[in-house]
Amino acid sequence: MNDTIFGKIIRREIPATIVYEDEHVLAFKDIAPQAPVHVLFIPKQVHIPTLDDLKPDQAELVGRLVLAAAEYARKEGLAEDGYRVVMNCRDHAGQTVYHIHLHLLAGAPLGRFGTAH
Ligand code: 5GP
Repeated sequence: MNDTIFGKIIRREIPATIVYEDEHVLAFKDIAPQAPVHVLFIPKQVHIPTLDDLKPDQAELVGRLVLAAAEYARKEGLAEDGYRVVMNCRDHAGQTVYHIHLHLLAGAPLGRFGTAH
Protein backbone atom coordinates (compact mmCIF):
# COMPACT_ATOMS: atom_id res chain seq x y z
CA MET A 1 0.00 0.00 0.00
CA ASN A 2 1.32 3.41 -0.96
CA ASP A 3 0.51 5.53 2.09
CA THR A 4 2.42 8.57 0.88
CA ILE A 5 0.78 11.77 -0.25
CA PHE A 6 1.56 10.73 -3.83
CA GLY A 7 -0.30 7.45 -3.28
CA LYS A 8 -3.31 9.54 -2.30
CA ILE A 9 -2.92 11.63 -5.46
CA ILE A 10 -2.73 8.46 -7.59
CA ARG A 11 -5.95 7.18 -5.97
CA ARG A 12 -7.56 10.64 -6.39
CA GLU A 13 -8.07 10.88 -2.62
CA ILE A 14 -6.54 14.35 -2.65
CA PRO A 15 -6.53 16.82 -5.52
CA ALA A 16 -3.60 17.71 -7.74
CA THR A 17 -3.20 19.60 -10.97
CA ILE A 18 -2.56 16.63 -13.25
CA VAL A 19 -0.82 17.53 -16.49
CA TYR A 20 0.00 14.10 -17.93
CA GLU A 21 -1.11 10.52 -17.42
CA ASP A 22 -0.58 7.19 -19.13
CA GLU A 23 -0.72 3.56 -18.03
CA HIS A 24 2.50 3.80 -16.02
CA VAL A 25 3.14 7.47 -15.25
CA LEU A 26 1.25 10.29 -13.56
CA ALA A 27 2.50 13.90 -13.67
CA PHE A 28 1.21 16.86 -11.70
CA LYS A 29 2.30 20.34 -10.69
CA ASP A 30 4.40 20.63 -7.54
CA ILE A 31 2.48 22.34 -4.74
CA ALA A 32 5.53 24.48 -3.84
CA PRO A 33 7.18 25.23 -7.18
CA GLN A 34 10.92 25.90 -7.20
CA ALA A 35 10.89 27.22 -10.78
CA PRO A 36 8.25 28.76 -13.08
CA VAL A 37 7.51 25.22 -14.27
CA HIS A 38 7.81 22.46 -11.64
CA VAL A 39 6.14 19.17 -12.45
CA LEU A 40 6.50 15.81 -10.67
CA PHE A 41 6.51 12.54 -12.63
CA ILE A 42 5.72 9.41 -10.62
CA PRO A 43 5.09 5.71 -11.25
CA LYS A 44 1.42 4.81 -10.90
CA GLN A 45 1.39 1.04 -10.53
CA VAL A 46 4.32 0.29 -8.23
CA HIS A 47 5.33 1.80 -4.93
CA ILE A 48 9.10 2.34 -4.76
CA PRO A 49 10.09 4.48 -1.75
CA THR A 50 13.49 5.70 -2.97
CA LEU A 51 15.85 5.41 -5.90
CA ASP A 52 17.94 3.13 -3.69
CA ASP A 53 15.03 0.65 -3.64
CA LEU A 54 14.88 0.40 -7.43
CA LYS A 55 15.44 -3.13 -8.78
CA PRO A 56 17.13 -3.88 -12.12
CA ASP A 57 13.86 -5.13 -13.58
CA GLN A 58 12.31 -1.73 -12.81
CA ALA A 59 14.81 0.18 -14.94
CA GLU A 60 12.26 0.67 -17.70
CA LEU A 61 10.00 2.52 -15.29
CA VAL A 62 12.59 5.22 -14.66
CA GLY A 63 13.06 5.50 -18.41
CA ARG A 64 9.33 6.09 -18.71
CA LEU A 65 9.49 8.91 -16.14
CA VAL A 66 12.38 10.55 -18.00
CA LEU A 67 10.74 10.17 -21.40
CA ALA A 68 7.42 11.52 -20.12
CA ALA A 69 9.22 14.57 -18.69
CA ALA A 70 11.12 15.16 -21.93
CA GLU A 71 7.95 14.84 -23.98
CA TYR A 72 6.09 17.22 -21.68
CA ALA A 73 8.91 19.76 -21.93
CA ARG A 74 8.85 19.52 -25.72
CA LYS A 75 5.07 19.84 -25.85
CA GLU A 76 5.12 22.89 -23.56
CA GLY A 77 7.83 24.60 -25.62
CA LEU A 78 10.43 24.30 -22.85
CA ALA A 79 12.90 22.00 -24.54
CA GLU A 80 14.79 24.47 -26.64
CA ASP A 81 15.69 26.76 -23.72
CA GLY A 82 16.33 23.71 -21.57
CA TYR A 83 15.28 22.24 -18.26
CA ARG A 84 16.49 20.14 -15.36
CA VAL A 85 15.30 16.79 -14.05
CA VAL A 86 16.10 15.78 -10.47
CA MET A 87 15.49 12.72 -8.31
CA ASN A 88 16.21 13.20 -4.62
CA CYS A 89 17.22 10.12 -2.62
CA ARG A 90 16.79 10.26 1.18
CA ASP A 91 17.87 12.84 3.73
CA HIS A 92 20.96 14.50 2.28
CA ALA A 93 19.12 15.18 -0.96
CA GLY A 94 16.10 16.50 0.94
CA GLN A 95 13.68 13.77 -0.10
CA THR A 96 10.39 14.40 1.70
CA VAL A 97 7.95 12.09 -0.09
CA TYR A 98 8.94 8.43 -0.10
CA HIS A 99 7.49 7.39 -3.44
CA ILE A 100 10.05 7.92 -6.21
CA HIS A 101 9.49 10.96 -8.36
CA LEU A 102 11.25 12.92 -11.02
CA HIS A 103 11.19 16.70 -10.71
CA LEU A 104 11.02 18.68 -13.97
CA LEU A 105 12.19 22.26 -13.45
CA ALA A 106 12.02 24.78 -16.26
CA GLY A 107 10.89 28.16 -17.45
CA ALA A 108 13.90 30.28 -16.40
CA PRO A 109 17.68 29.92 -15.96
CA LEU A 110 18.07 27.56 -13.01
CA GLY A 111 21.56 28.34 -11.76
CA ARG A 112 23.97 25.74 -10.50
CA PHE A 113 23.29 23.12 -7.85
CA GLY A 114 25.24 21.21 -5.24
CA THR A 115 25.87 21.30 -1.53
CA ALA A 116 24.17 24.03 0.51
CA HIS A 117 27.08 25.89 2.15
P1 5GP B 1 11.20 15.66 -2.64
O1 5GP B 1 11.61 16.76 -1.70
O2 5GP B 1 10.73 14.43 -1.89
O3 5GP B 1 12.21 15.35 -3.69
O4 5GP B 1 9.97 16.23 -3.44
C1 5GP B 1 8.66 16.17 -2.98
C2 5GP B 1 7.91 17.29 -3.65
O5 5GP B 1 6.53 17.06 -3.47
C3 5GP B 1 8.21 18.67 -3.07
O6 5GP B 1 8.75 19.50 -4.09
C4 5GP B 1 6.86 19.15 -2.56
O7 5GP B 1 6.64 20.52 -2.78
C5 5GP B 1 5.89 18.28 -3.32
N1 5GP B 1 4.65 18.01 -2.61
C6 5GP B 1 4.52 17.64 -1.31
N2 5GP B 1 3.23 17.45 -1.00
C7 5GP B 1 2.52 17.70 -2.14
C8 5GP B 1 1.13 17.68 -2.44
O8 5GP B 1 0.28 17.37 -1.61
N3 5GP B 1 0.78 18.00 -3.72
C9 5GP B 1 1.70 18.32 -4.67
N4 5GP B 1 1.24 18.62 -5.88
N5 5GP B 1 3.02 18.36 -4.41
C10 5GP B 1 3.43 18.06 -3.16
